[in-house]
Amino acid sequence: MNDGSDSDGPDRDVLDRAADLLSQASHAVALVGAGMSKESGIRTFRGEGGLWTERGEPPLNQYDGFRDDPKRWWERRLEQAAAEDRFGESLDAAEPNAGHLALAELERIGVVGHVITQNIDDLHRQAGQQSLTEIHGNRHWMRCVSCESRWPRVEFPVDPEALPPRCAQPNCDGVVKGDTVMFGEPIPPTALVRSEQETMQADLFMSIGTSAVVYPAAQYPMIAVQRGVPLIEINPEPTPLTEVASIVLRGPSGEVLPRLVDAVRERCSP
Ligand code: NAD
Ligand code: ZN
Repeated sequence: MNDGSDSDGPDRDVLDRAADLLSQASHAVALVGAGMSKESGIRTFRGEGGLWTERGEPPLNQYDGFRDDPKRWWERRLEQAAAEDRFGESLDAAEPNAGHLALAELERIGVVGHVITQNIDDLHRQAGQQSLTEIHGNRHWMRCVSCESRWPRVEFPVDPEALPPRCAQPNCDGVVKGDTVMFGEPIPPTALVRSEQETMQADLFMSIGTSAVVYPAAQYPMIAVQRGVPLIEINPEPTPLTEVASIVLRGPSGEVLPRLVDAVRERCSP
């Protein structure tokens, strides 16, 4: 592990070693967390300036409330939607930053094969990332809790007189909720299976802007390391993954990733 960095971000030689690894990879997999969207104006939960660092952790049994009374949950949800919510407003206003665009570029160059994101903000899609698992869902989508069918929110109007909304698939009739995974809610099995498959195929792993304490997401880089796959961490602060990382790039992802793309391009151009 090399933590060569200063206030201007990672040293050139550390960045070069990361670019060497990336340009040799054909299926790098990245696990991304809330830190990646900080430069898009969305606060993280943990870490310096995080919402929970300031206010403490919220109750972790939200899903029980939904399961026990989905009608009441939906009524509250529609009430809350009308109320002012600054975190929601920051999500609404957010646009992909230089880090999201650089990660999508690494996919186009052919080195990043898949991104597993914990973010629900849709910014990877907006940046053009194609191969993507949104392990905690996407705030612009709806999902049936029974069959896992998903619909863009704008294509699924919710009738306040007929709550909770029900799945439209033949022979299902499951309850429909926002796609975002609540605290205590199981992660949809297809997202778990895909994340595991991609982790097993990875020839390089990247951990970007995640505090790496939320499971099961945090286990994927660990599995990759146990398989002997090198791990590159990009984060301004240390995490539990730091000590197992082959290379640590200390700095904001919106600055580090574009530098990395330039260095990879130098190596990959004919
Ligand atoms: P986290 O809030 O627990 O940790 C954020 C991490 O980002 C910290 O390690 C911090 O050091 C790092 N960080 C801060 N600024 C950064 C920057 N500019 N560049 C790179 N890294 C930076 O986030 P988490 O690990 O993703 O876990 C929290 C959960 O909350 C996630 O599962 C996610 O679903 C949810 N969440 C999502 C959003 C979003 O969609 N944008 C925002 C907040 C929380
Ligand atoms: Zn269904």
